[in-house]
Amino acid sequence: MRFEALAKSHNRESVRIEELEKRSDLFAKNVFNNSKMLQFLTNEAYSKVQAAIFSGNKIDRKIADQVAEGMKAWALSMGATHYTHWFQPLTGATAEKHDAFFDLMPDGRGIEKFGGGQLVQQEPDASSFPSGGIRNTFEARGYTAWDPTSPAFVYKTTLCIPTIFVSYTGEALDNKAPLLRALHAVDEAATGVAQYFDKNVRKVHATLGWEQEYFLIDKALAQSRPDILMTGRTLVGSSAAKGQQLDDHYFGVIPNRVLSFMSALEKQCMLLGIPVKTRHNEVAPNQFELAPVFEEANLSVDHNLLLMDVMDEIADKHGFKVLFHEKPFAGINGSGKHNNWSLATDTGVNLLSPGSTPMKNLQFLTFFINTIKAVDTYEELLRSSIASASNDHRLGANEAPPAIFSIFVGKQLSDVLDDLEGVSKGKLSPEEKTELKLNVVGKIPEILLDNTDRNRTSPFAFTGNKFEMRGVGSKMNCAKPMTVLNTIVAKQLVDFKKEVDALIDKKNLKKDEAVFNVLREYIKTSKRIRFDGDGYSKDWDTEARKRKLSNNKNTPKAIQVLTSKDSLALFEATKVMNDKELVAHQEVELDNYIFHLQIESSILNELVYNYIVPATLKYQNLLLENIAGLKDVYGAAHKKLTEPQLNILEKMAEHMVAAKKLADLMTQAKIKSDKATSIAKKAQSYCDDVKPYLDQIREHADALEQLVADELWPLTKYRELLFTK
Ligand code: ADP
Ligand code: MG
Repeated sequence: MRFEALAKSHNRESVRIEELEKRSDLFAKNVFNNSKMLQFLTNEAYSKVQAAIFSGNKIDRKIADQVAEGMKAWALSMGATHYTHWFQPLTGATAEKHDAFFDLMPDGRGIEKFGGGQLVQQEPDASSFPSGGIRNTFEARGYTAWDPTSPAFVYKTTLCIPTIFVSYTGEALDNKAPLLRALHAVDEAATGVAQYFDKNVRKVHATLGWEQEYFLIDKALAQSRPDILMTGRTLVGSSAAKGQQLDDHYFGVIPNRVLSFMSALEKQCMLLGIPVKTRHNEVAPNQFELAPVFEEANLSVDHNLLLMDVMDEIADKHGFKVLFHEKPFAGINGSGKHNNWSLATDTGVNLLSPGSTPMKNLQFLTFFINTIKAVDTYEELLRSSIASASNDHRLGANEAPPAIFSIFVGKQLSDVLDDLEGVSKGKLSPEEKTELKLNVVGKIPEILLDNTDRNRTSPFAFTGNKFEMRGVGSKMNCAKPMTVLNTIVAKQLVDFKKEVDALIDKKNLKKDEAVFNVLREYIKTSKRIRFDGDGYSKDWDTEARKRKLSNNKNTPKAIQVLTSKDSLALFEATKVMNDKELVAHQEVELDNYIFHLQIESSILNELVYNYIVPATLKYQNLLLENIAGLKDVYGAAHKKLTEPQLNILEKMAEHMVAAKKLADLMTQAKIKSDKATSIAKKAQSYCDDVKPYLDQIREHADALEQLVADELWPLTKYRELLFTK
């Protein structure tokens, strides 16, 4: 396999991509967006859909029929033959079940049919999707329901309708339903607060701009590795002599084959309305990044999921395999997906952007400080939202952001916060007000974007007009962290408004006095979360413990907090998830974690028994034959000549014995873990008792790779995977 794959990859040529049309001409051609709705819908249907998008109004059946009719006409004109409800089950991927528009009339004629019923709701036979026990198979059903805030699109020959996926009794069985509820909560809460500063604000939406990192590996080479194929990462593999030491890949010239892949991908993204903007090489060899212009968070999440599907597909056409795994290769950087987040009003204002007047800056400070306060209160919950078996290789494992949550705001804003801490209690004197206006709030420069001392080690950094959450996994659905972040900020803003209103009503304070008073207390009580130092240092570990910040290094531990008393209360108060859903979602995550480790350990066991040991034995035989031959020819004098061979034989035996023994111990550990009495205990046991064997076995396997003759080694090597263009 290895040598065939290498030959294939050497002979590959880059696919020619023509760019005949301007990108803006391609943009959203395949999306049923506003301009298409205007063209294909009645005025009534159009305005009802717009109202539903703006305020979440229900769309009645008659209107749904009209929308379906228009959507069908458009989709058929785009060459679509099928439609599907496109949803996000808790597996982390997207799911779809295609139905043809085609239908048969009683008189035997064929027609294309699609009505409001099919648009609004579907009942996929979904009993195999994870539900954490919500959906017992007898009460069975899960429904998908249309999300009009994310426009339908045609991909290949299918009309895809973004939907939520809920149980018969309404519990979320997916990642989108909780996200939509969180976005609704933050809209309500933030609108209330934004109206302190501008009465005209009617709606606030969260914005998200993700940055997708990934590896691109030749398809044949990827297929030659059972571990990459089955787990998305290499479980063994000795480091290539050259890794990323020279930093010669980062922002370097993009190789031709990769460039044509990127062009083809971007063209497809344009058609689908995904506003991709930047592309570049990342730090590790064969690692790249792609980022779009930011969008409303729900749409942005959908676009990221769609992008990952499209990438798989286009890569395949170009002879590549995309690795989205957070840590596909040991010894070089892993991949992440920074989530840039902010809040924007329907009047076009970014609430996390400092402005040109003191009032605008007070508004900025309000949202800025409330976000800090929210992250401080719920740091452990936010950490839990990015926990997964594969992301454990980054968080808490000497790799990009640490498992400890902290916020970096930079020197300038730290100074402003320090100044605000000194604001007097209660009413402010005219002098103090002027001082605040001129020298504190007024001092915030309009553009902080060039904030020079950006701290790349911070998991949650303010970057001038948005916060950047850096621990999100490259493979992950951004809906999870976005749900938690928007929920905690919503809760915080509701509390804030209550406190400010109370000061205005009961203590007779002016609005800005009340705001200053509450913010001052928040700055004081959320100090521990602010950290501008090196997030990777040992000192920070110790310091964070003193500050009582959580430091959960693995998934089973990190997601315990999902069902803590405080979390249940938070999600209940914001109406984002009920107890039943939280327990179920936690259970699904634990299950996912266990499955992940079960698969990895099985594959590794197979690699040891069926690949590594047999290869070692072959080389052993070759050496033995050689030694016997030398003995025949040289008699007693052979000893000196065969010393290196014997030495290699001994080393190989040592590592082979150890690898096999550890593989057997790992199997025993799995049997023990499987007997755990609860799913939480089972996951923790897989983490503590099974997972360590993966690294230990790897050490011996990699040592054997260095000993066995290259031509006998069956597994494609790191230098081949990472350096073949
Ligand atoms: P980097 O973090 O690599 O230095 P930038 O700071 O230029 O890159 O921005 C990266 C991402 O931030 C882009 O994907 C962009 O869409 C996103 N972004 C910019 N402004 C906002 C905003 N107001 N809300 C959400 N995302 C934003
Ligand atoms: Mg970034």
